[in-house]
Amino acid sequence: MRLPELSSQTDAKVIPLGLLTTTRYCWAGCAFCRLAIPLPHKPLSEAPAGLTWEQVQKSGVNFDQVAEVRIRGGLSLAEPFDYWIHFLRQLRPNVPGRLIGFSPVEIWQYHLTERRTLRELLRLLRWAGVDRLGPGGSETWDEERRQRWSPNRVTVAEWLSIAKAAHAVGLATTAAPMVMPGVSDMDWQGYLLPLQDLPPALLELKPLQSDGTRLSRLGNAGILETTHAVSAIHDLAPHLPLYVRWETGDCHDAQEILGAAGADGLTLPVWEVAP
Ligand code: SF4
Repeated sequence: MRLPELSSQTDAKVIPLGLLTTTRYCWAGCAFCRLAIPLPHKPLSEAPAGLTWEQVQKSGVNFDQVAEVRIRGGLSLAEPFDYWIHFLRQLRPNVPGRLIGFSPVEIWQYHLTERRTLRELLRLLRWAGVDRLGPGGSETWDEERRQRWSPNRVTVAEWLSIAKAAHAVGLATTAAPMVMPGVSDMDWQGYLLPLQDLPPALLELKPLQSDGTRLSRLGNAGILETTHAVSAIHDLAPHLPLYVRWETGDCHDAQEILGAAGADGLTLPVWEVAP
């Protein structure tokens, strides 16, 4: 693959992230997941306990060190939604930066299991101090890939209905398309189309890291594929804040190359607390 013509002289800035993992267990079993331990046959009420505020306090992590704190995790959550609202209310005063979470995937699960409206759940998140929803469920809009890789999660229509409801209650959204070998400019055009009326506050490209997942035969997305994706999306939607998720501390070259291709920044986890 040839590098696209590079358009900017500015290095992508680094956005340091803190991750709060609610649980490492998940019944959904998505093929690309590197986070969760499969727990397919356990009722939610019997799932292992999730993250507690005491665990966060004991961890001693530095909230001033990060620009964003993200709540993420699996779906085998024994705790009811109101437990997490209480958790977020304790967390919020400690977070000087943005607070992001939960994602539409978790919101949809609580919508179904607790029979509460999307608007009620989203309003509560906003009340608890959340700035943006997480991007879970937005890896691809391609129905065929979704059926093969994550058939148990929200559909595209459900994801978009949650994003619409979030915007209606004043909650911003984020989207994280996956960069993988073989994605074309046409695919990016198709990805951006449904977001035209629901612009995310952050579009964060996630280069596929397939080691240890069921997609390992596809290999990892490299810097060339990622640079090409950045350049294509930047050309198609120059107004969208465009970031790339970076997993290793050594990102100087990536800052230069991806910044030149049009990325505004790299998001880089610097700490995590998990149960
Ligand atoms: S829903 Fe999220 S945590 Fe669960 S398997 Fe899928 S990607 Fe992993």
